[in-house]
Amino acid sequence: MNIYQEVFELHAGLLKALAHPKRLEIVHLLRDQSLTVGEMQDMLDLPQANLSQHLTILRTAKVVIAKKNGKQIYYRLSHGNFIKASDLLRCVLLEKYKDDKLATNLNMQMADLLPSEKDPVCGMYIAPKTAAFAHIHQDRPYYFCASRCLSKFKSDPAKYTIIKEEKR
Ligand SMILES: [Zn+2]
Repeated sequence: MNIYQEVFELHAGLLKALAHPKRLEIVHLLRDQSLTVGEMQDMLDLPQANLSQHLTILRTAKVVIAKKNGKQIYYRLSHGNFIKASDLLRCVLLEKYKDDKLATNLNMQMADLLPSEKDPVCGMYIAPKTAAFAHIHQDRPYYFCASRCLSKFKSDPAKYTIIKEEKR
């Protein structure tokens, strides 16, 4: 194999490591923060064995870096370009699905540049622009870090919206 082909092989290997919905979700969760396995497990709807498998793949490909801090192991992205790449691909999706019902969801995340909103389920602060999920409940948009928080919210919106009102 010549060097020219080798570069494409390396590129394909990296994309392969990223090519899974849950691994992309992990990359998204790590965009502004380091997280432990336990924290990621709370945010993702994923058994720990599965999560470990995905983290091993991401670690091997050097997408994420694990660092020990006291007793905990924290994961973070190795490079900010993973976020840029993922955002750019979402722009392509937005363009592709602009006439589809999905567009409302994709568009809301991309267009909104307002400051932080709180995920009503886990309490994590997120920018609407980069929120993994947006959901309209009683004419108000809510933003979620990951699929598990959104499904928890949908199963019992009152639980999370009432808490929100009390805190005001
Ligand atoms: Zn959350």
